[in-house]
Order: sequence, then C-alpha cells, then structure tokens
Amino acid sequence: MHSLIRACNCHVQVSQDLCVADVWATNFGVAANAERILDLPAPELEEAIRLDTWDAIPDGCEEDEDPHCIEVSWVSHPSHPSFSHHTVSPSFVNIPSAQSFSPSLEVWTFKHALDPVQSRGIACVERRESVLLSAPTSAGKTAVAVYAVAMALHEKKRAIYTTPIKALSNQKFLELGKLFGGQYVGIMTGDTVIASDAPIVVMTLEILHSMLYKQARDPNLMDDFAYVIIDEAHFLGNVERGYAWEEVLILLPLHVRLVLLSATVPNSRTIGDWCSRVRTEPMHVITSEQRPVPLFHGVFRCGPPDYFSKKRRSLFSIMNPPRNFFKPWNLSEAVRQRAIILQSQPKWRCPYELLPRFIGRKGQNLKQLMAGLSASVRVADEGIIEVRALDCDVEREAKLRVTRWLTNQGALAKAPDSSSGPLSLQVEDLERLLSLLWYRKQLPTIGFCFDKRMCERIALLLAGGKRMDFSSNAAKSKIHARLQAGLAGLDERDKQLAQVKHCCDLLVRGIGVHHGGMLPLLREIVELLFADGLLPVIFATETFAIGLNMPAKSVIFTDVVKFDGRARRMLNVSEFRQMSGRAGRRGLDRAGYVYIMLHSDQILQQPATTVLTKLYTEEPSEVVNCYRMRWASLLHLISAGPAHVYAMLSRSLQRFTEPTVAMSRQQEARRMVKVLQELDFVDKSGVTLPKGLLACHLFLAEDALLVADILIALRGFENYSAAQSFAICAAFVAEGSYNDRLKISDSAVCEGLAICRKVAAKLAAKLHSHKLPCCTKCKLLNPISADVLGCDGTEMIKTRLNPKLCETALQWASGRDFTSAVLSSGVAVGGEGFVIRALRRLDELMREITFVLRHDLASPETARRIQQARLLVRRGVLAAPSAYLGEAEDRVAEEIEEEPPWPSQTWPPGYQGTVDAFDIGFSQASCSANFHQPPAPGGPNDILGLAKALIDGRVQPAQVNPIKIHWFRHRYYSLDNRRLAAFRLWRLLDKDAKVPVVVLSRNQALRERWLRKFTTGFTGGRKIRITQTDRFVGLTREQSTFGSSLWS
Ligand SMILES: [Zn+2]
Repeated sequence: MHSLIRACNCHVQVSQDLCVADVWATNFGVAANAERILDLPAPELEEAIRLDTWDAIPDGCEEDEDPHCIEVSWVSHPSHPSFSHHTVSPSFVNIPSAQSFSPSLEVWTFKHALDPVQSRGIACVERRESVLLSAPTSAGKTAVAVYAVAMALHEKKRAIYTTPIKALSNQKFLELGKLFGGQYVGIMTGDTVIASDAPIVVMTLEILHSMLYKQARDPNLMDDFAYVIIDEAHFLGNVERGYAWEEVLILLPLHVRLVLLSATVPNSRTIGDWCSRVRTEPMHVITSEQRPVPLFHGVFRCGPPDYFSKKRRSLFSIMNPPRNFFKPWNLSEAVRQRAIILQSQPKWRCPYELLPRFIGRKGQNLKQLMAGLSASVRVADEGIIEVRALDCDVEREAKLRVTRWLTNQGALAKAPDSSSGPLSLQVEDLERLLSLLWYRKQLPTIGFCFDKRMCERIALLLAGGKRMDFSSNAAKSKIHARLQAGLAGLDERDKQLAQVKHCCDLLVRGIGVHHGGMLPLLREIVELLFADGLLPVIFATETFAIGLNMPAKSVIFTDVVKFDGRARRMLNVSEFRQMSGRAGRRGLDRAGYVYIMLHSDQILQQPATTVLTKLYTEEPSEVVNCYRMRWASLLHLISAGPAHVYAMLSRSLQRFTEPTVAMSRQQEARRMVKVLQELDFVDKSGVTLPKGLLACHLFLAEDALLVADILIALRGFENYSAAQSFAICAAFVAEGSYNDRLKISDSAVCEGLAICRKVAAKLAAKLHSHKLPCCTKCKLLNPISADVLGCDGTEMIKTRLNPKLCETALQWASGRDFTSAVLSSGVAVGGEGFVIRALRRLDELMREITFVLRHDLASPETARRIQQARLLVRRGVLAAPSAYLGEAEDRVAEEIEEEPPWPSQTWPPGYQGTVDAFDIGFSQASCSANFHQPPAPGGPNDILGLAKALIDGRVQPAQVNPIKIHWFRHRYYSLDNRRLAAFRLWRLLDKDAKVPVVVLSRNQALRERWLRKFTTGFTGGRKIRITQTDRFVGLTREQSTFGSSLWS
C-alpha cells in the first residue's frame, strides 16, 4: 500500500500495482483533487507517491542517501562573518546561485538600509519560498516578516502572524496596524477578536493550531492565505507547548509559505531540513550570530562596597566586546569576595543537624512556627533560611519567630539585624547597583526576577521609605496623565485594589513592575510607559523577554535560579541569552550591559564559579524535540481518518532526529487509541463516536477526555444553575497549589466536584491499566518504575480539578464585584492578575462548553442559560479592553452573539408519519446484518431479506414497526439502524418509498440510552464508514445523509 496523504490533502491509499485507490475525502473539492491526481499516468503517479512518502524509507537509512533533497549552502558573507545561508530543497526545484539572491524590494521599501540577513531573507520571500531566520533578538528579523505581509497584500492574498503569547499579539497588532493601516489588520486571541476576516490577522499560535484542526471540516479555510509568519519559532522545543508548533508546521497546507523567526539555536539547519522534507518544499535557513549592538557582561558582587578596604569595587567585568574574551579571574575574585562577606555576616543559617526538627514531617513544625502569618519560609543552599512576605511587618514578625526558635536551640550566636535579614536579595544591594547604573548612564534597565512575589516585593522595598525616585517632574506629570487615562475603564472599587495603588505609587517614581499576577490592564500600562521611555527601571519576570519588543540599555539578573513549575533550576544558556538580548537598543545605544547579581558563592549546592562559567561560555542547547501525542490531537487526527495519526507521528521532528525514541512514541499512541476505544470515544474501526467529537470541540481544556467525561457525568449541567456550572468548570482552569481547608459555600458545587473527582479517578485507573501516565507527575513516566505503581491519580485530580477558584467564580458569576469575589475566596494579594487570567480562560472554556451543550449534548436550553451568564461575567476588570487595542476598540466585534436560532424540529414528539429514508441519519456507526427478532410478523430477519420483501411487496411498510427517530443537531436520527438500512435499499429502487416513523422526545431518547451510551455515529460529515451496512446499501458520499453540506 502507498499513501498519498499530502498531495491529496486527505487520506488516500493506493495499492501496490497502482490499480486500486481508496480515498477518504473530506469534501467534494478534496475528492475531485484526489481523483485528478489518481488519474495521472502511472509514471507520474509513481513520482507523486515517491515525493509523498519520503519518510517511508526504512530506519537506519542515512539522510545523505536520500535522493529527494538537494542541499545548497552559502556560508559566510564578506561583511558579515557569522552569516550563513543554507537551503534544503526537493530535487524538482531549482535553487539559483547565491548572487541571484538580491531583493528587488518591489512591494515594500524600508527607511533604513538592510543588512545581509534581512536582504537575503527578503530575497527568499520574493522567490515565494519558505525561510527560517535564526538570529539574536533585535537583529531585525521583523523586516522579513513585514515584507512577507506586504507580498501577501500585493498578491491580494492574506497573511497570518502568530506569536506565542497574547501580549505580544496585541503589540504586533498595533505595530502592523501602524505600518499597513488599521483597516488591514485583525487580531484573534483568546480574549479578543477584532476583524478576524482582515487581510492580515495576528493570532496566538494556539489559535492557528485549532484553526488547522477545524480545517479538517472546512478544507477551504486556509485557501486565501499566502504566508504564515511564526514568531519565536524556537518554541518548537518547549516542553509544555512545543507540540502545537510542530503540529502547525506539519498541518499547514502546502500552498502557504512560511516565515519562521527564531532566536539563535545551534540546530536550526536540522529544523529547516525537517521542515523541507515534511512539507516537500524548499526551505532556506539563514543564520547570524552577530548582535547588532555589542554586549558588556559583568557580575555585581553583593555586599558593602568598601568591605575590602583597598579597592571599592563591586562590579566585575566578565566579557567585553569586541573580542568577548571570557575573564575567569574576575569571576573568581567576585565569588571569593562574596564568600568572605558571607562568612563574616551573621545569618539565619540552620545547622544541618537541626534542619529536620526545624522543618518537621511534611513541614509540620515550620507550619506551626509560622501559624497565622502569610509568609513563606524556605531553606536554601547551606541551610540558609529565607523568609519572604509581601508585607514588611509580616516579614519582620516571621523573622523574629525564626530567630527565637534558633536562639532557643542554641544555634545562633548573634542575631542578625531583623530589618535587612538574610534574604537572598537585599534591597541595599539593589539600590547600590541601580545608583551605579544611573551614575554610569546605563538606564533604562530591566531587572529580571524569576518569582512574581519577589518581583512585587523588590518594588515594594524600593518604594518603602521613598528612597528611590528616577522620575523627573516633567515625566511625573506625563505618567500621571497616562495612568488616569489608562485606568478610566476601571470602576471606582477596582481602582482601590491594593495592587493598583502600589503600582501607581511606584510608576510615578519611574519604577515599573511587570509580572503575570498583575491586572492585565495595569501590565499593559507599564509596558506602554516603558516603551515610551518614561520608566528608567522595571522589574519583570521572564515573560517580558519573550517577544515583547521592549529593549533597554542594561539588564540585571537579580537571580540566576528559577522555578520552572517542577523544580528550582539554573537558567539555561538559551534563556540567559534571550534575556540578555534585551540589553542594547538598536539605533540608540552603542552597547548593552548585562549584570548578574552574585548573592552567594554557592548556587544550587554548586560552586558559583563553575555554574556561571558554564552560563557565559557554553553554547545554547539544541531545540530538542519532545513530541508527545496529546489526547486532543489524537482525537482530531482520528476523526480526520485513522491513518493521519501515524502520518503525524512519522512526520514528527523526533522521527527525523531520534527514530528509536519516535518508535516508542508510536507504541504509546497505539495504547492511547486503545484507551479511546475502550472509553467509547472512537469505535473499533477507528470512527469517531459522538463522545469523541464532543471532546474534539473542547480545544481549550487541558484534558479534553476528562472534561468530556465530566460533562456527560453531570448530564450537561442540566441540574445546575449557570453560576454553579461556572464554579465547577473553574476547577478545570485554575493553576497552582491550594489550601486544603478551602471552603465552597454552595453544596451543589461541592457535590458536582465530588462527581468530577470520581470520574477523574476512574480515568486515571484506566490510563494506568494501559501503562499510560495520568499526569506529568505520574510515576509511570519513569520507565524504570513502570511496574511500581505508586500513582492513584491523586496528583492528577489535584492539578486537573483544582478547586482554588471555584468560590471566586461562583461569586463572580452571581454578580458580586471583583474585590469581594476575590477576597471572599481568600486569594492572596498580588495574585489578582492570575485570577483574572483564570477567569478569562474560564470564559473561553465556557464558550466551548456552550457549543458542546448545544451541538453535542442537544441541550440548547442549558446552553442559552450559560451563554446569558457569560454576558454577565464579562464585566468590570474582566472586560477592560487591552490598552494596545486603543482606537481599534470601536471595531471590537461583540464576540458573544446569540447564535442563529436553534432550528425547530418539524414534528412534535410522539408524531407518527412517513418520511424519505435518506432524510434520516444513522444513529450508530455500525450495526450487524441480522435482526434479533423479525421486524415484521413472519418476515425475514436480515436487512437484505427485509429489503427484498419490501421491494416485492411481500411485506408492507405499515407492517414494520415505525422507526424511532429523534431530532438532534439539525436533523432526525434513527435509533433503528437495521430497519433504516433495509428501507434505504428499497428506496434506491423506488423513489416513492416512504418509511413510517415515530418521533421521540428528548426524555424518551435518553431512556433508550441514546444519549448515555453515546453510540450515535454521526461523524461530522467527514468520513463515511458504515462498516457493515454499506455492503448492502452501497452508499457513495453524495448519496449519504452524512454529506457535509448538511452540517454547515
Ligand atoms: Zn498516574
């Protein structure tokens, strides 16, 4: 068997002798296209198959034996030594010599001169070929993207610009609007949809990802698009989200050209090579490692500057342009000095022998010690105790308690000063560093912290005592004006939120804070103020370094250790470079400055010199592929045709780079398919069952399987109010740890959550029985302990059903104001932004759930109830529009609009009449050929027999029991498939043949286990496979009542 999936854009199998082809077309156009290709003369068809199945080459075959690709490489450029251009191309495309790659710039002119990277990239775009640009931040990659957009407009086609985060999408929307005119640009993120039909659409990559899966239903969806620009393409290697990038690259139709913008990664050529082969198109990989603005690297040694009397020095130069020689002696001197200072300073260092008693079992003792205080106490390297709290008084009290405990144990000779304390970061050090930067004229600066609370706290400490002020009077009044305009959208009570007050207080003094816990509106105001040069100092988390085009003159790393959701770990080289890259503004600064604050001679129990040397000198890690098949992807692929699953796996980057690992993934995917079959998401023959289709509609749910099961277990929220269903669904979107004593005031919600937990436990057990992990923390992930099953799904229930925000969602959906909704559920101050983010995600998820209720669960009433509640939920801070969207706000399409009225069914329940057999849909994907009992007295008991008897007139239609039908998703479905099949056979010969029917009410259908068992086999018009009955009925796609036009 050969396959021709890519060429035909649907699954096609061709027999070895090329005589028989099997087409699973998604619609008429696709089928026609497949037919056209299959009509080709044998040699041409063979060639098409050969091009389509490069990955069918047996494993172990070396790449360079592959005859389908030619590679051309032009390394180095006279004026740009680190520049390289590498091309991989299928053999049927001619790649000209390097000289011919000079752009004509016919469709767009730039104000500034283009550097070699830019002009080469643009030349590739002009050849209408895909290009991957791998260069450091601020190297001007955007110029190529802008040119691609201009090309699309010139050709009267459309372009998509994707980014990894919403904030960057907003920024790009504004930028592209300024360049091309606002009327040409639209945006689609989870929060906002503006002019989604505009020629240029900015969207988050996840939106494009779900669009491409929808393409399975609407193959013309991508027809207008000529270019897709993927910003931050190195996200391909992201453990959590990389799969979406990979699937997008594989699924994008071939007529779309790609512009991939990526940070420098060492294996960009491999990625380009893979892309070219997967997509059978030429791929240009242009790399440059040269930064347009050179960087100075230094280390700031914390502690008093005059500690070493000879030299008052705390800044140590580590690497200087132009040669960037690494100076290890300076680094070791800094570390040595810091070690001496640390030794002589009294600190809350808990001796190792006391540690177990200090912490206690599961942290019991520590919890007791800190009872009633919202402070976090952590034991860091060498037993140093770190005490942190948002409130200074709380922190002082916490430190006092620790001191008392240590003194009682006799572990503390001399108590440290409780005002500064043994923090890993002291405010005096920061103040000193900032003053130094100010003195050296190296502001504005971005201070990166890897902890949102730390970020907030640093800012608070700097604000406390009004010690630092970087803002001139003129700037102050500007900031005031901007704040007033920006916050105008908030209502009075929300303006009183502690976070808003703190933030404004700081902003006026030229200090900004930027992290995920902030109100989105506030965060955007900070970004815009910074972009306009009104904030000399900003403390930000890592997100600030992703894509947002907000460079500064210098960058400070307040720490080099971050918590990545699983463990505290060292920054890796790529992250370090990405963040350092924010220093040095192109066209403004002659150089950028990067400083690491050195707090200890030990970093994560390793000598600081070793760790930092690695950070400075090592190459960034390769983009490692960690493709795992997700449940949602799997379901989508199966519903597009089972062969797509294996097609996807065999095209994965991993298959290309690590074939053996990829094989084990394939095994895993097989087990996953088995689970889907056992849980009735798909049937044995691989047809998606309605439950599977339901899950397909839940793009946003982290775990579509679980949410689908829960929706069914809760009977589509039939017995819950809208607010209660919001509260229950909040458990699907909340993140982070929660308190066990969490109270939920509504008993129905508690019961609902209990049902959810039961469903989750069952699902976890099912997954474990197939040796599949239930969550990322599941022990099964470790292959060595695969048979030591320590997992009972608790961890999965904790993370997937996190009740943290249920009460907040309940209160908010019941109409209480934000402040009291948040306070009543005990969300910590400083976390308001997280609540908003979660509530917005909840709102998005509810949109999908209403769709599911309406279309998959046939509960339009509940859907309408929830839809109305969504209108209510989108108010106040939640509805505050993005500051970036500005004037475009008027064009915001009201996203929640009543869907077209639910078509009323033609007959009331209980109606008996006759109808054409082809007007009824089958309720099951398959049925056997024989009846359990003869359908008509004395009649035959198989489908073909009954059909013949009807044709002969031996059996009258009236003698056959009426067929039970139920109105569902725009049409009637039959519950009596065998009888319907027989009537259809009769109808094929006799145009006037009619079926006697009786209409069931929803309750009757339920009682017939129609909804509960979910055996209805409509497949969204995608694929027709009525496995046994089609032998008799012999349906073609056009004849089928499942034809796609009915589903529009
Ligand atoms: Zn598990």
